[in-house]
Amino acid sequence: MAGGSSDRDGNGGGALVISAVPPDLCLGYVNTLSWRGRRAPAETLQTISDVLGWIERAAVFSPGSIDHAAAWAQDNEARAARTFAAAIELREALFGIFSAISAVEAFDRRDFLIFSAALARGPQRCHLVPMQRRFAWSIARTRNPIRDAITPVLWSAADLMLGAASHRIRRCANEECLWLFLDQSKTNTRRWCDMGSCGNRAKSRRHYARAASPRRSAGNPG
Ligand SMILES: [Zn+2]
Repeated sequence: MAGGSSDRDGNGGGALVISAVPPDLCLGYVNTLSWRGRRAPAETLQTISDVLGWIERAAVFSPGSIDHAAAWAQDNEARAARTFAAAIELREALFGIFSAISAVEAFDRRDFLIFSAALARGPQRCHLVPMQRRFAWSIARTRNPIRDAITPVLWSAADLMLGAASHRIRRCANEECLWLFLDQSKTNTRRWCDMGSCGNRAKSRRHYARAASPRRSAGNPG
């Protein structure tokens, strides 16, 4: 293609293509902070490169299409730092909103305002393009490629809030963990993010508690 093309081309080289966004992508993003119930939670996103790496692994963009975002971040240090801070603020707001939904409680209005402002600032979702016998969204790039890269997280959050799966949002019952997940079980009664780690941990804790006070557990079949 000849040079000089605008980065606002509809379906041209300047556009970004986003394939089907997994419904729980936003929960995966929230879970980049692990062990929220501990005094020192484990942070996966230390830098903007961590955010971009996480989004790349989510594989919702065509390969290579957000590669330039890292270079942009280096050339625009101050803006990249602000965008990174906003990405973390967004993640915490989403944790607040989805925790409240999982507990059937009212959400914090500030959390909602942070989310809805980020959604409004992001690219519009109005162009579909055919892709490998299916379809994908085509968005015009904005002047902030990191913000563009976070777009699928925002869409996934909005869709999850509105969709039928919203009643399946859970927060892990391990109070140290607090990961969010979608309960896909038939009985809709899953309590832990992962039975192998948090579930077993809870069971063995209950086992030790019973062993320590046998009278209290009498008659409890669990
Ligand atoms: Zn857990």
